Amino acid sequence: MKQTSVRPNIRHLSLSDLQEYVAGAAQPAYRARQLYGWLWQKHARSFEQMSDLPKTFREKLANDFSFPVLNVELLQQSRDGTVKCLFRLSDGKAVEGVLIPSGDRLTACVSSQAGCSLGCKFCATGYLGLQRNLMFEEIFDQVAFLNEIAMQQAGRRLTNIVFMGMGEPLLNYKQVLLAIDKITSPDGLAFSPRRITLSTAGISKMIYRLADDQVKFNLALSLHAATDEKRSQIMPINQSNRIPDLLEALEYFYKLTRNEISIEYILLKDFNDSLDDAKALVKLYRKLPFKVVNLIEYNPVSLSPFSRTESHVADQFIAYLQRQHVNVRLRRSRGADIDAACGQLANVVHTEAAQRLPHVNAR
Ligand code: SF4
Repeated sequence: MKQTSVRPNIRHLSLSDLQEYVAGAAQPAYRARQLYGWLWQKHARSFEQMSDLPKTFREKLANDFSFPVLNVELLQQSRDGTVKCLFRLSDGKAVEGVLIPSGDRLTACVSSQAGCSLGCKFCATGYLGLQRNLMFEEIFDQVAFLNEIAMQQAGRRLTNIVFMGMGEPLLNYKQVLLAIDKITSPDGLAFSPRRITLSTAGISKMIYRLADDQVKFNLALSLHAATDEKRSQIMPINQSNRIPDLLEALEYFYKLTRNEISIEYILLKDFNDSLDDAKALVKLYRKLPFKVVNLIEYNPVSLSPFSRTESHVADQFIAYLQRQHVNVRLRRSRGADIDAACGQLANVVHTEAAQRLPHVNAR
């Protein structure tokens, strides 16, 4: 009987591992590259799909390796074109990815963890707690699936990838960087790292590590309040990673990499949307060569005490920033009709519909 649990995951083998395996299986050497291409370029879901490999070899592969792939369990399309996917992992946990069309851009927003340990007070994922880190192939699969949806719906590839879904990417450092390697590699999806932005709630020591590792992608700081006093109220991580320390880490990152750094700032009604808040934000913005401040309209989530800033207040906030020559953009709330706030869909599935949705394993 097949021992499925002990078979190694085929996607944990490097190209040289595959070359060794192919030689041991008495197959021609070029099979290793064919196989690697199916895994990382063509995004095959099963060995059976690898149509240019001999049937006997595919059977041997299926016998020797496991090949778990994310399952797309739920797709929701908003009236504004936003597509939200609920992905089921092979152990039954769920994560979300979103495809956001906007102007010329087709952006994939992906998750790095199932749940999140950081407990930000405005975030649905924060209320889930951390379930586990994702493996690199699980992050890769989200991008590959969203890219396929982009091709089906818009006839073209993704233009941008943001790590702004569930989880704190810097707390799953190794797997996130391995995933980005496959996403950007010419042997993989061949995306430009300049089109990738990793968003962090701010873990100083890991920002130093990104700089030392000379990464090529951009960074976004999820700031959401420009003083330590306010930020600590909504983001517990701020108690151990204060704003001045984060700014020092970001300065180091910028000096070493020259990659873009932006600020994300969700406008929360009567909490961080006053003129004083705008002034504090401008002061902080001037400390580093931030590329842009992305103001984000809040998508209220049921467990959070916050609500969306009224549009005339948001307009005043933006106008002040613009008068101060801040490069500012307002990101309109997308997909409000489809639970598109970070963690919202998974929360619905976990808390309300978990009994109704079948858990489908990846294989
Ligand atoms: S905002 Fe990001 S870091 Fe904060 S709880 Fe949500 S997923 Fe985690």
